[in-house]
Amino acid sequence: MQGNLFEAVERTPAAPEKAASSTDELARLFNTSKECRKCRLAASRLNFVFGEGNPEADVFVIGEAPGAEEDASGRPFVGRSGQLLDKILQAVSFERKDVYIGNIIKCRPPQNRNPMEDEIACCMPWLLEQLRIIRPKLILLLGKVAANTILDNRLSMGAMRGKVIRWKDFDCFVTYHPAALLRNPGWKRGCWEDVQLMRRHYDKLCTSGTIQDRISER
Ligand code: SF4
Repeated sequence: MQGNLFEAVERTPAAPEKAASSTDELARLFNTSKECRKCRLAASRLNFVFGEGNPEADVFVIGEAPGAEEDASGRPFVGRSGQLLDKILQAVSFERKDVYIGNIIKCRPPQNRNPMEDEIACCMPWLLEQLRIIRPKLILLLGKVAANTILDNRLSMGAMRGKVIRWKDFDCFVTYHPAALLRNPGWKRGCWEDVQLMRRHYDKLCTSGTIQDRISER
């Protein structure tokens, strides 16, 4: 049962057409940031992992940092974690192309250790600039490190999940990182509830119908 929580897939509407301005601005930001050497992680990275997705996304998904497969490919959330993230999104009727996906830092920390404070401080301006360009309505924060960093707190996952948390101009939701779900499959039920909550909020903010309406129309 738990293993099938993210198997149900509903066809999603096509992503909105990309606005040339956001696409161009993101491309300019990528070119400006891709050779960044502001922190020590530049020395050990194979690839800078900028992020990817819809430049006009209403939902921005933020994780912690690139892992080995992301470092090798230059893309966020690939490999088993990425596949599980795709299923999590599909469970609430989003495709990867509908949202924007990135991390709080853009180069892999050695041995996948947590990012250090000074590395985060160096890298956050790139993420803030992506948020300014894309202007999402919702942010989904994956894991405690991403959530504590963005929300600037030290709260537990239990204290942050299951609610809307306002940060700057964005409504944020917190759930488990897919890598943590792979280690702890029993947490998938909680993640499923978190993303359902986010989807209901998205439907209120961004669409005229709810996911339940569309399911009942099928
Ligand atoms: S982690 Fe961020 S600040 Fe550090 S080198 Fe990479 S892009 Fe630059």
